[in-house]
Amino acid sequence: MRFTYVVLLLLSLPLFAQEWQQQRIDASSNPNEWITKTNQWINQYDQNRQFEKLALAYALQSEAYRYSGNETKLIETVKEGLRFAKLADSNIASALLRINQTWYHLQRGQLQQANASVIYAIEHAKASGNEDLFIEAEILHAQVMQNAGDIAQALEILEELNRDANSSIPKLQVEFHSLIGIIYTDVGAYDIAIEHTKDALEISKKHLGQWDVSVLQYNLARIYQQAGTFPKAKEHFEKALAISHEIDDELGVAYAMFRLGTLELEEQHYERAIENFEQALPQFKAAGAHPMEAETRLSKISVYLATKQLKSAKQELQAATSLINTLDSQELSQRIESQWSLYYEQTEQFQQALEHYKRSVDEMKAVQKSRQDKQVQEILVRLEIKEQETTNQLLQKENQLQQLALQEQKTSYYLLVWIIISAILLVVVISAFLIQQWRAHKNFAALALKDDLTQAPNRRAIVQRCKNELEQSHTQNRSLALAVIDFDYFKSINDKFGHDAGDHVLQRFAEVAEDSLREQDGFGRLGGEEWLLLFLDASKEDAERIFNRLQEGLNSDPIEGVPEDYQITFSMGFTEAQSGDSFDDLYKRADDVLYEAKKSGRQRLVIA
Ligand code: GH3
Ligand code: MG
Ligand code: MG
Repeated sequence: MRFTYVVLLLLSLPLFAQEWQQQRIDASSNPNEWITKTNQWINQYDQNRQFEKLALAYALQSEAYRYSGNETKLIETVKEGLRFAKLADSNIASALLRINQTWYHLQRGQLQQANASVIYAIEHAKASGNEDLFIEAEILHAQVMQNAGDIAQALEILEELNRDANSSIPKLQVEFHSLIGIIYTDVGAYDIAIEHTKDALEISKKHLGQWDVSVLQYNLARIYQQAGTFPKAKEHFEKALAISHEIDDELGVAYAMFRLGTLELEEQHYERAIENFEQALPQFKAAGAHPMEAETRLSKISVYLATKQLKSAKQELQAATSLINTLDSQELSQRIESQWSLYYEQTEQFQQALEHYKRSVDEMKAVQKSRQDKQVQEILVRLEIKEQETTNQLLQKENQLQQLALQEQKTSYYLLVWIIISAILLVVVISAFLIQQWRAHKNFAALALKDDLTQAPNRRAIVQRCKNELEQSHTQNRSLALAVIDFDYFKSINDKFGHDAGDHVLQRFAEVAEDSLREQDGFGRLGGEEWLLLFLDASKEDAERIFNRLQEGLNSDPIEGVPEDYQITFSMGFTEAQSGDSFDDLYKRADDVLYEAKKSGRQRLVIA
């Protein structure tokens, strides 16, 4: 009920272009006159079956009833009017009637019906193409939302209006700012509320009448009161009161007086408080402002209880109770029960005090629950959105992280594969290189130990072998022998058959030696046509045998370039190793006996 007074702001400035708009203003200014006037119109148009005019007459009459305070008549008129508005398909009449219907339900706290009505009002206003009517309906819609506790929705509607539709009609601008002021008061944002209300007040002072100014002064004072700024509240209530007196607005006087009384009560100025309440009460009663009457009575009871005037308190309690019982307001019911409880406590009727206290608590719970339901719903919606946002953000974040992880995984996977491939390649390359090196080395090594022409071990190889074996033969106590071979008159072979033939002879000797010698024995080309032979565990007989075998083998098959009947011969010096022999000692001995063999006629073996 707090700010319903602001609704009375509707339609008070003669800025409307169309006739019906001007008529609305007149009807709200002189409701009783217009009730009579519209009754005449209704009879006339009904007889003439002029339904559009009839519907509009009903709409204007409902407006007049609304400002006359006769709400029962108001709702009857609305019902009748809607029938004809539908029949005449008049969007203007429908919108106006629905606006008044909304207002009626709003006054009674019938918020669902109010909401349904205001939706119709908006639809018809839109269809009528009248922008100001549409804005009016939208502002009313925001007011319904505000009453329903859906402040967010109310603000959204107003913000949208502020953005999309800017009425040049000061009345609508005032209504817009007032409502925003009320909404911000609801949420305790008093500074913003005061700003908007002051805006509305300024526009009113410039463009609207005294009545509107007084209402806005009153609203501003209410915000200051709720914010706890009592001196400011008092200042503006007094301004509202002065204007109301000036324009003989008795209801306005009653509102201002009542509020000033509550300020006095707050400051414990009980006598002045009761004076104010007693002046306000008959006006509320006369205007049928029942909730305000109840409020005033409750405030009076507070004074009586505070000043221990128990008889007066009881009278007022009874009057208030019978009134509140007709009002269907949980908040007022709770307050009256609470006052009864206090009364019985003061009269020491504790049983009854407790009973009323319990009822007051029950009512309080109901009030809180319905408040909570609204708030909870609002909070839930907000939370849901917030939660949804948070969840979305979370999902997004998770997604991002997953993608990053995946990418990282991929990257590390690719990196790993790349590393493995690189490693394999590197190993292959290195291996190939090493193998090549090894092969080359092996080749070189082999080459280094082989005689090019005959592929037999060269001098270095056989000498090294002999030295190694000699060393081992010393420790293992094995017998070791050396033989040196030199071809006889090799020069003449070259001379007679050519150098190549000589080469072939040497090659053949290498083959024969390879085949004829035992596994453990060895041989090599010392240079030219001289050869060194190594024998392990060989006797002198073995030397003889090998000499003959080599000689035979050399001549058994024809040699390229050498006549078949040509006998190739060689001389051989053989010596067995003695303990303490060095290779040089051995070789020298073998070479010595070879020389002997040559000297004694060649083609023979001499053993040292
Ligand atoms: P002697 O019976 O006294 O040993 O007579 P000789 O002709 O064999 O004399 P000597 O051993 O002093 O000469 C070796 C000759 O062998 C000298 C050279 O022309 C020949 N000769 C050395 N190396 C090769 C070779 O690789 N190929 C050919 N075809 N002949 C070579
Ligand atoms: Mg020689
Ligand atoms: Mg020779």
